Amino acid sequence: AKSQGRNQVCFFRDMTSQGIGKKELYIQNRLVNAVNSQRIQAWYQPIIEASTGACSGVEVLARWHDDELGWIGPATFIPIAESIGLIRELGQQVWLASLAAAESWQRQGLTLSIAVNLSKRQLFTPYFTEKLLEEVSKHQLSPGSIILEVTESVALLDVEHAAERLQELQEAGFRIAIDDFGTGYSSLSQLHEMHVDELKIDISFVRRLNDPRGLSMTQAIINLARALNLKTVAEGVEDEEAATRLRELGVDYLQGYHFAKPMPREDFERWLAQRNKS
Ligand code: C2E
Ligand code: MG
Ligand code: MG
Ligand code: MG
Repeated sequence: AKSQGRNQVCFFRDMTSQGIGKKELYIQNRLVNAVNSQRIQAWYQPIIEASTGACSGVEVLARWHDDELGWIGPATFIPIAESIGLIRELGQQVWLASLAAAESWQRQGLTLSIAVNLSKRQLFTPYFTEKLLEEVSKHQLSPGSIILEVTESVALLDVEHAAERLQELQEAGFRIAIDDFGTGYSSLSQLHEMHVDELKIDISFVRRLNDPRGLSMTQAIINLARALNLKTVAEGVEDEEAATRLRELGVDYLQGYHFAKPMPREDFERWLAQRNKS
């Protein structure tokens, strides 16, 4: 790190005073470099319409490969980016990459929705709705094709403010999804007031479809979504058995390794062309 210049050294010193371990500091430092040099990639995982089997859209997932450390998962680097104030810049790179991809798919006549994950801090960026609208229209896209995913905790953390922001985004035409639904603490009354369009059923429920209580929980979430007029997406569908169960339960969309893993843009385009052929 020393040979990489003054800025890095200062950065290390600042963070050390906050009592963070050496390894974490090293990762932070590499992450700052990766974001500054635009090396965070956007990967795409297909989302399947349960009733037709068609690919209706993608979820955009951030990926980072470091020359020294190898692949580092977003479960590791997103919290780091959040804690060091890097998440807006990182999120912006992923967002712009996905808009460019979406524009090109639209020009090819493909109708795909784009689901993007948002962190709390992004949601509270000043003029966030206006900025998103401007960027979307620059790419000739309509906000209705964009799904903004926020976790339950984000949606409910600062309830009033988050609710206002989500309402604003929804009124601008964006679709809102609650990610990892069922793992947070949202009360039914709060959910009723939230401006959301879909619930993404957390992978932990999908894993428990074999046990009767797990099955009932998933059924309850789907019934709740229906009562509130929300769409449902099941995450982490890893086999045909789970896919069948979920279709029977009436879930609207399926996502998981059974269909496809997240892929770089070119691989996703090849996957889609292949699928549309057969
Ligand atoms: P998430 O939004 O709930 O994304 C779904 C995660 O489940 C992804 O993990 C995906 O690769 C994984 N997954 C999909 N299908 C399966 C399956 O069949 N089995 C299993 N075991 N896993 C499956 P990933 O890509 O590691 O992302 C983890 C989390 O990091 C995401 O959870 C999201 O909260 C966050 N994240 C990823 N990209 C971004 C981003 O660009 N911005 C923000 N703010 N957060 C992001
Ligand atoms: Mg998500
Ligand atoms: Mg999720
Ligand atoms: Mg998750």
